[in-house]
Amino acid sequence: MALQIIEKSDLAFFVQNLMDHFQLEGVQSKGQSVYGQAFFYGTIRSPAELCLDFDCTVMPPKKYFLPPQEALFRFQTGPSPACFECRPNKPLVIFGIHPYDLKAISQMDRVFAAGTPDPHYLARREATILIGIDPTHVAPRSFWASMEAAVVSSGFDLMMTDLGANYIVETGSEKGKALLGDYAKVRPATSDEVRQRVSQRSHIADMGQKRGLTFPKREIPILLQHSLTSPLWEENATKCLSCGTCNLVCPTCYCFDVWDDMELNLTQGQRLRRWDGCLLSDFARVATGENFRGTRTSRYRHRFYRKGQYLFFGILDDVACVGCGRCAAFCLPDIADPVEVFNRLKEKLN
Ligand code: SF4
Ligand code: SF4
Repeated sequence: MALQIIEKSDLAFFVQNLMDHFQLEGVQSKGQSVYGQAFFYGTIRSPAELCLDFDCTVMPPKKYFLPPQEALFRFQTGPSPACFECRPNKPLVIFGIHPYDLKAISQMDRVFAAGTPDPHYLARREATILIGIDPTHVAPRSFWASMEAAVVSSGFDLMMTDLGANYIVETGSEKGKALLGDYAKVRPATSDEVRQRVSQRSHIADMGQKRGLTFPKREIPILLQHSLTSPLWEENATKCLSCGTCNLVCPTCYCFDVWDDMELNLTQGQRLRRWDGCLLSDFARVATGENFRGTRTSRYRHRFYRKGQYLFFGILDDVACVGCGRCAAFCLPDIADPVEVFNRLKEKLN
């Protein structure tokens, strides 16, 4: 489908239609915080609530596919043991996802489809329509251009770019095409507007270069191979609070804990899972009591190897960091910034 134009004056019409037919989630501005203006994903109840002019949300949209806590199944024990499925399939539209978060979702799609596919994650993804938006601002700690996530050409149903007077929209799937056809007022883009989009997207890539890696991203796995005993791990880890914030705000952190929650009758219960984080002190504690990453240094270092090496070779053929900069922005002692750590490791090696 050729690129389409939505006039800014028609955006509210599109948003209202989506609200009438789907659960619509999008970015809302929540005012100033100590970190600057705070943006969060939430349910959109009026077109005016939707913000498309944000730099970075505090939390990524991963909660829509991997909720902070969920029931995997319910069960009963006793003479007639049984399991009852809890399968999510609520249709959802998420409006306003930046390219780096779209890239993170594409990576998570691969992780949750690999090996034994995760039916809960995949059912939610299947029921969700993603509307991307190219950024107009860069958050102070973002470095997404370095992580090849300034623009994306897949991983969305619709992708919008702000051209000033209007939005130019690329269709990425049949679902996206139907959404535009059924709920938006559109017209085909002119060749001038198509050219404007090319130059706007190259401007976005330039904006994202304000900070970044001093070397190509694909060298990260080899850099880590030579950095296992670097003093930097201990130097930074002595300041780590083991709070797990860097895990929670990361769009590519997906570890979870699983446990059974029994009811008082001791015959019924549910199996739950909730977010976990490799920086938390109990993360690697096993049933016999041993903790195989019992020191802050081992946990701190692990996170960078997980992002830069293990997932690269295991599943993604890519670094599992998209450069959103959330971990850097919200780590109190300011030691979680991947670009800072990778650049310093590189310096030490040279
Ligand atoms: S690196 Fe920072 S955000 Fe992460 S656990 Fe340590 S103190 Fe918390
Ligand atoms: S490691 Fe940090 S910068 Fe990279 S994707 Fe996760 S939160 Fe964003």
